[in-house]
Amino acid sequence: MPRAYIGLGSNMGNPILNLETALKRIDGIEGTRITATSSVYETEPVGYEEQAWFHNCVAEIDTVLSPEELLGTLQEIETDLGRVRKIRWGPRTIDLDILLYDQMSINTERLIIPHPRMAERAFVMVPLVEIAPGAEFPDGRTAAQVTEVLSDNKKFACINRKLW
Ligand code: ATP
Ligand code: MG
Ligand code: MG
Repeated sequence: MPRAYIGLGSNMGNPILNLETALKRIDGIEGTRITATSSVYETEPVGYEEQAWFHNCVAEIDTVLSPEELLGTLQEIETDLGRVRKIRWGPRTIDLDILLYDQMSINTERLIIPHPRMAERAFVMVPLVEIAPGAEFPDGRTAAQVTEVLSDNKKFACINRKLW
């Protein structure tokens, strides 16, 4: 079964509860199971800084959905959890990004995998390495290797909390 990694983020309402609810919904997708989740990390916002800190985590899933089907389903969950698209990189109740899908490389208008900005984001790479240091990018590099050369000076703290 294909294996994928999802990056979750929230900074509105009750972020921990939003992450927890999103994980339950992801595990409830037909043909999809969560196989591991990272700790939760508190992270300084990227792009648009006049907003609350984010809570982020990463989930590993096995899924029978294609990457496009998975994106569509994750977007439905975002909408159900009250995500309203206003400011790019602005505050949100939940953000669900597909980071990796097997070792596939996809580049369409709707979907880019690996996620185009993941390799420069500690709030994605550190939780990913926590659960899957050997996860491979299409070019064969592992998540751990990509993280070694990461230079991200955003503030960042593991709050040592597992939601799953
Ligand atoms: P960023 O992509 O920098 O993390 P964001 O997550 O806030 O920003 P969104 O508003 O959630 O951006 O998504 C914008 C668009 O990105 C979506 O409509 C979706 O079609 C597209 N997209 C492209 N690649 C991916 C991916 N790997 N995972 C999720 N969305 C993606
Ligand atoms: Mg995002
Ligand atoms: Mg997104």
